[in-house]
Amino acid sequence: VLELRGLRKSFGEHEVLRGIDLTVHRHEVICVIGASGSGKSTLLKTVNLLEGIDDGEVLLQGTDIADPRTDVDATRARIGVVFQQFNLFPHMSVLDNVTLASRRVHGIGRAEAEATAKRLLDRIGLADFAGAYPDRLSGGQQQRVAIVRAIASDPELLLLDEVTSALDPMLVGEVLDLVTELKRQGSTILMTTHEMSFARNVADRIVFLHRGEVVEQGAPADVLDRPTHPALVEFLARVH
Ligand code: ATP
Ligand code: MG
Repeated sequence: VLELRGLRKSFGEHEVLRGIDLTVHRHEVICVIGASGSGKSTLLKTVNLLEGIDDGEVLLQGTDIADPRTDVDATRARIGVVFQQFNLFPHMSVLDNVTLASRRVHGIGRAEAEATAKRLLDRIGLADFAGAYPDRLSGGQQQRVAIVRAIASDPELLLLDEVTSALDPMLVGEVLDLVTELKRQGSTILMTTHEMSFARNVADRIVFLHRGEVVEQGAPADVLDRPTHPALVEFLARVH
């Protein structure tokens, strides 16, 4: 679904991504881990075209979306994104939040978009909140709505950047359970997380980013239990 080749990105003098090669296959869940400042969020932003790149290719189903001639809006419509916080529009009901992209970007009619949204809200147990504004919901509920909104228009790829790190510990589980459920249903997900036990249980592959480079990647058991790169050894000692 996604292939990054030789991706480079600098902010001024500071090279934040230093030649990233990464492939995400259909139905794969990839967890990107790494220290604060290692470039995880920047990596996800380049895939969603929120940050331009300086060199390399970002291939979505084989098409280079980093090419300036690519239609940015059309590309974004194929990718679902959820960030750490402030994902929902506060002045819109939960239902309108979930249907917005389907209706505006994908041109789906109101009735169909709302039927889909209600089915998704029902699945996460929040159908009763369809007419409510986001501030009536807990942080965990808001993030689940944000994830459901991101998948409402059936994206080819879902990007999740630290979707649980702004939440009370009590609420982390319900959001991660939803991600697990999406994996079961075959979603393709590229995510960053600090939740190592989640990454161990759900990721097909863990990618360790160190100072803008992928220095180690592989199956969770290999990366987490048999790390070889000294920076990964040190990182794991700190997070465990
Ligand atoms: P965290 O775990 O704290 O979320 P991260 O791995 O997501 O960290 P990034 O947010 O990708 O790290 O940031 C990588 C580096 O790029 C940091 O040094 C950061 O200061 C820098 N950076 C990120 N965005 C910008 C920007 N818009 N302008 C300048 N520097 C930036
Ligand atoms: Mg980040």
